[in-house]
Amino acid sequence: MKEAFITGVCGQDGAYLAKLLLSKGYHVIGGSRRSSLDYTFRLRELGIADDVEMITFDITDQYNVYQTIEKGQFDEVYNLAAQSFVGASWELPVQTTMVNAIGPLYLLDAIRRYSPTTKFYQASTSEMYGLIKEPIQSELTPFYPRSPYGVAKLYAHSLTVNYRESFDLFACSGILFNHESPLRGEEFVTKKISMALGRIKKGSNEKLFLGNLEATRDWGYAKEYVEGMWLMLQQESPDDYVLATGHTTSVRDYVNSCANALELNLEWTGDGLNTKGIDLNSGQEIISIDPLLYRPAEVDVLLGNPAKALRELGWKARVNVDELAKIMSIFDYERAKV
Ligand code: NDP
Ligand code: GDP
Repeated sequence: MKEAFITGVCGQDGAYLAKLLLSKGYHVIGGSRRSSLDYTFRLRELGIADDVEMITFDITDQYNVYQTIEKGQFDEVYNLAAQSFVGASWELPVQTTMVNAIGPLYLLDAIRRYSPTTKFYQASTSEMYGLIKEPIQSELTPFYPRSPYGVAKLYAHSLTVNYRESFDLFACSGILFNHESPLRGEEFVTKKISMALGRIKKGSNEKLFLGNLEATRDWGYAKEYVEGMWLMLQQESPDDYVLATGHTTSVRDYVNSCANALELNLEWTGDGLNTKGIDLNSGQEIISIDPLLYRPAEVDVLLGNPAKALRELGWKARVNVDELAKIMSIFDYERAKV
């Protein structure tokens, strides 16, 4: 039986990936930081909390990382652990760098020293493109990160390529564009929108505050993206791949899709910081702009070219952004407590 170790198993992608690997007959070991609280709610939501062998794992603790890799001799390691929220990375630049850059260094170095046949997946990101150098970003597009998060992830991506080339490791970097799901962290804009509109639809008289409505993202469904991660480690040779839908949507249009899914009658008025969203059914002002939610440096547009993943992995995003907004909005509406 194949053994896979997933760092960040309690996160969105960790939970979906664990479920996928279990369905393929893997023994799944999940790494999670010690905490006084129980963070396994996503594993429980997917009904797999008892099927994953949990171990204490903090990627910033070099001793812990080296020991885990040496003892585990895993067939596959998926490094999903991260301080994953771009917005927080300006407040937490050192922690973000420790987790997102130095942590992968510990992991790669541990694999090279103690378990060189282990296959390694690094969770890289479209945030590395930042101030985009090409209108559609592929594996060949130059990087220009715009946040401490993006900078740290670019270090880890470059190191993954470097360790593959230097030490002949089976190390892959998946350059994943934004992917969402009902299990997405609540601070991310898609989840923030679907949760707030779900509560409003149930009768809450709250207002949803947003920042830059004009930023666009290539949003896909997380459940499908973890299949791409697995496929990368099943190839003859290691390589880097973009996973994306090939379509980009503004935050404003994502709000529209969620509102449509919930049959809210949303109309926008004003512009810039005075933009408001009104629900014409109730007359309630449901959306306003909070300038504090604008970022010190923005990534205005992301649009991925997933052609290589289709050609070489046979991977393709199937759920489009409207369907994704519907899945998340209905889920959050049904769970909304008002
Ligand atoms: P989440 O934030 O949901 O999950 C990240 C996980 O990392 C959490 O379980 C968190 O644990 C864990 N973690 C944080 N710090 C440490 C640490 N010091 N040691 C060990 N574990 C730690 O992110 P996603 O599942 O959405 O993303 C998975 C990966 O993919 C991340 O690396 C992310 O940066 C990357 N990515 C995600 C994209 C997306 O759109 N979702 C796009 C491109 C890349 P805890 O719960 O204890 O905080
Ligand atoms: P990111 O692409 O990883 O940064 O994912 P997010 O979901 O955090 O942000 C996506 C885009 O939405 C960014 O361009 C943000 O500036 C924009 N955005 C606008 N309002 C908000 C908000 O209230 N919260 C978040 N998280 N992002 C917002």
